[in-house]
Amino acid sequence: MLTIKIKNIPVLCLLIALVVSGCSGNQTANETEEELIERALAIHDRILTLDTHADTPLRMIQPGFDMAERHDPNETGSKVDYPRMKEGGLDGIFFAAFVAQDIRDDDGNSRAKALCLQMIDSIRTSTERNSDIVGLALDPDDAYALEKDGKRAIYIGIENGYPIGKDISNVELYYEKGVRYITLVHSSNNDLADSATDPNGAEHGGISDFGEQVVKEMNRLGIMVDVSHGNDSVFYDAIAMSEAPIIASHSNARAVTEHNRNMTDEMLRLMAKNGGVVQLTMLGIYLRDTPPNPEKEAAMDSLLKSLKPRDQMTQEDATAARQAFNDINAKYPDPPATVKHVVDHIDHIVKIAGIDHVGIGCDFDGGGGIEGVWDASEVMNITIELVRRGYSEEDIEKIWGGNLVRVFKEVQAIAKRIQSE
Ligand SMILES: [Zn+2]
Repeated sequence: MLTIKIKNIPVLCLLIALVVSGCSGNQTANETEEELIERALAIHDRILTLDTHADTPLRMIQPGFDMAERHDPNETGSKVDYPRMKEGGLDGIFFAAFVAQDIRDDDGNSRAKALCLQMIDSIRTSTERNSDIVGLALDPDDAYALEKDGKRAIYIGIENGYPIGKDISNVELYYEKGVRYITLVHSSNNDLADSATDPNGAEHGGISDFGEQVVKEMNRLGIMVDVSHGNDSVFYDAIAMSEAPIIASHSNARAVTEHNRNMTDEMLRLMAKNGGVVQLTMLGIYLRDTPPNPEKEAAMDSLLKSLKPRDQMTQEDATAARQAFNDINAKYPDPPATVKHVVDHIDHIVKIAGIDHVGIGCDFDGGGGIEGVWDASEVMNITIELVRRGYSEEDIEKIWGGNLVRVFKEVQAIAKRIQSE
């Protein structure tokens, strides 16, 4: 539900006018900018709005971080809390327990599992403590039931299959804890699959034999298979191996912005054939070509030259390197991507794959956040731009959650069938 009162709309218009173009191509005859925004906000309020990817558990495990409190995104860097979900009219979200890829031995695997379980517990504890405003959601229809009750739906995902380690029984353990999708891999290769961004290139040629067992186990349990961050072969393997449709919880279109993390038109067409869904993400580098920034490139270059080889890095070295990267990014920022870039990607995916195969996964608290959709309180600006470009309420309902719910139901139905065989 939206909390913006109609009397505040002129102020909101002004704010939005700063970030959204004044193009009035699809405004209905005689509709003013104020009326278009009012119409868009009414749609945003009526439909279920579901964001499939936020790394907020990274913050939830920090001592003293309270999801029921409103945080200033510029002071704290935090992008999601329950008050801002309400402000933005965001009805539901998948909080991903994200564990960064580290050493793939028994110790590394058990540390990853412990951290993953800690994050899942923090999500569950937070929803229990705030049961007057949010609820843990496990089934597709739970989001609608919670919305009816005026509560935000909190789903759980896992970003990076690393915490599964080499033990297939962990998949069921995570399912029992409430996990409903698993992103097979993250920025580096793991035991399940190859990453789109591993500096050493591919290792398994897509999904490994163990990764295939994991996919089958996810199919049996009713966990959605998420191919975001996987390389192209992972996508094709997942389509071939999974009995259920797959998702990309936070990925964009490569024909619009050239990046390994984005999906080619061929992949988009296959995603449509598969019945799956691609959830658009709010990361500048995946949304538009980065304009040249020579000072930043020079600073990155000298940092890279100063770093030890990866296999000689201690945990402290890695943390310091990450901090140095962040400092350079903060010192030489790239011009921001905008909500228009987001809807350019949506337009393209709709053209190639159709309206039934696109959704939204903002990646807040994992790098997501652009001009006009900086945090959860601003997600209605996506709806306003969709209305401006002529999308119908039915289309917008599909984009904002209907498509994902359809896939989720299909995944569950297939699990039921497998279990009864
Ligand atoms: Zn990610």
